[in-house]
Amino acid sequence: MHFIESANDLIHSTTPEGDFLFVNQAWRNAMGYNLEDLAGKTLYDLVPEDRRKLLSEELKSLAAGGRVNLLETVFRTRNGNDVVVEGNLNCTPESATARAAIWGICRDVTERKEIQRQLFNLAHYDTLTGLPNRVLFVDRLQQTKAQTQRRNQLMAVAFLDLDRFKVINDTLGHPVGDKLLIEVAERLNNGVRQVDTVARIGGDEFVVVLGNLKEQSDVERVVTKLMSLLAQPYTIEQHELFITCSIGISLYPQDDEDLDNLIKKADLAMYAAKGKGTCSFSFYSREMDEHAHKRFVLENGLRKAIDRQEFLLYYQPKVDVLSGNITSMEALLRWAHPDLGIIAPAEFIPLAEDSGLIIPLGEWVLKEACRQNKQWQERGYFNLRVAVNLSGHQLQHKDFIATVQRVLDETGLQPEYLELEITETVIMQHPEYVVGVLCQVRDMGIHISIDDFGTGYSSLSHLKKFSVNTLKIDKSFVKDIDTNETDAAIASAIVSMGNSLNLRVVAEGVETEAQFTILQDTHCDEVQGYLFSRPLPAAEVVTFIMERKEKNL
Ligand code: C2E
Ligand code: MG
Ligand code: MG
Repeated sequence: MHFIESANDLIHSTTPEGDFLFVNQAWRNAMGYNLEDLAGKTLYDLVPEDRRKLLSEELKSLAAGGRVNLLETVFRTRNGNDVVVEGNLNCTPESATARAAIWGICRDVTERKEIQRQLFNLAHYDTLTGLPNRVLFVDRLQQTKAQTQRRNQLMAVAFLDLDRFKVINDTLGHPVGDKLLIEVAERLNNGVRQVDTVARIGGDEFVVVLGNLKEQSDVERVVTKLMSLLAQPYTIEQHELFITCSIGISLYPQDDEDLDNLIKKADLAMYAAKGKGTCSFSFYSREMDEHAHKRFVLENGLRKAIDRQEFLLYYQPKVDVLSGNITSMEALLRWAHPDLGIIAPAEFIPLAEDSGLIIPLGEWVLKEACRQNKQWQERGYFNLRVAVNLSGHQLQHKDFIATVQRVLDETGLQPEYLELEITETVIMQHPEYVVGVLCQVRDMGIHISIDDFGTGYSSLSHLKKFSVNTLKIDKSFVKDIDTNETDAAIASAIVSMGNSLNLRVVAEGVETEAQFTILQDTHCDEVQGYLFSRPLPAAEVVTFIMERKEKNL
């Protein structure tokens, strides 16, 4: 008997009715009962209610000489915990000296089961938000599709991406971004029916499957509701945040029967929604495939475009409000695509950034702008600053300062004739690092401007640290400045803030006299926009400036 008593397995013995006859040391340790404590208790008392019927059948069958192969059950311990066990039940038949006894030999597999459960969760749920991940999502999609098909109804896949989430993440930090995502997940889950699935499938990307719908308007109703739920303000670590989302929707069965394709099409529709501006949704349509195709063509063409000299720079002047003098010329990149014509930077800069091509492309822009400016000076046309837009990728590149120095050396342009435009968002992504780089740029004698100011999340305290010369008010505030009081107030606040920090303030996107008059009244220093000049090819810049000189403007 000794080896039974000291075995590692949990061993117990009961009568065929379940009354305890023996429990070994391991069993006692795991369950917290001595044999005496078990007086009046049966095996049935230790297993969950829904297991009891089965257990009774097993015990009966064993007593009658049958076999039970694998015992898998949960025992409730004395202090109320559950121990998951796996093992065998055997019966020693009645003999001359002893009654029949059922022997259970089990292993405690609680830990293993818990690990299995955790592994399952890891494989099927997103750890941050607790929502299903892509794997489980595809599974649910499959089920919903089958149901929808049986009922001859409609299923929608809604692909949801948060607008400008990266800005929040980069400027307020990942912990804030994470908390925001958790709350977004919660709101989405509360906004759909029990039968629908919300999953997180990427950083700020969610998908929702809506099954058993009657018509397209059902989808619109749910999607509009989700959008307005997400648009309510969030309070996270004393920040009041606002975030909107863009949603793309594909429908089963009309858009596709294949699940992967349905997801892809919803994703495409989401990009189309983004293109409409923030906070909107789009249903998938055929033309979107063409759009995706265009992106593909652009991506491929981009690699060869530098060598083929397909890029060119246009220049747009910035004008001093008081004197009417031109202060600087902003270089704006264009791609003269052999088939598609002139393409605006918004269409290909993100592609260049994704592929890393922005580094050689950015260097080309810098060099070309400096070369052109030096040439204008040498020919005696004018001595103006040329402003070059920088991508965050360039600024974070380890060779950035060396590249700028080399370009200045090679072209012979004096640093005071170069200006670099950096967007507020880029600065706020890595404020400490960027401040360091900008200080070196300033020490080289180069002019620094913050572009698209007012769209990021920078604070006055951050601004003070920057060694910048100019703030450019984003054109979104200028657009309705003559009709929208809030925009006018923001623009005016930026001007006075800039003045108090000794910075020049430029308004971009000035198209009308009405906008200009208001900017004049707010004491904005410089303006830039179609009202004065569109971005011009290099050759036209000379004529433009010469004409202005002649008219004495
Ligand atoms: P940005 O630097 O803020 O440039 C201003 C954009 O507004 C330019 O668009 C310009 O053509 C446009 N614009 C100028 N005046 C007006 C106006 O009166 N009304 C309106 N509605 N728009 C006006 P563009 O040239 O398409 O450039 C878009 C953005 O692409 C630029 O915004 C800049 O962020 C980026 N970009 C342009 N060239 C380069 C470059 O060489 N490198 C990098 N990294 N980015 C560039
Ligand atoms: Mg700019
Ligand atoms: Mg701008």
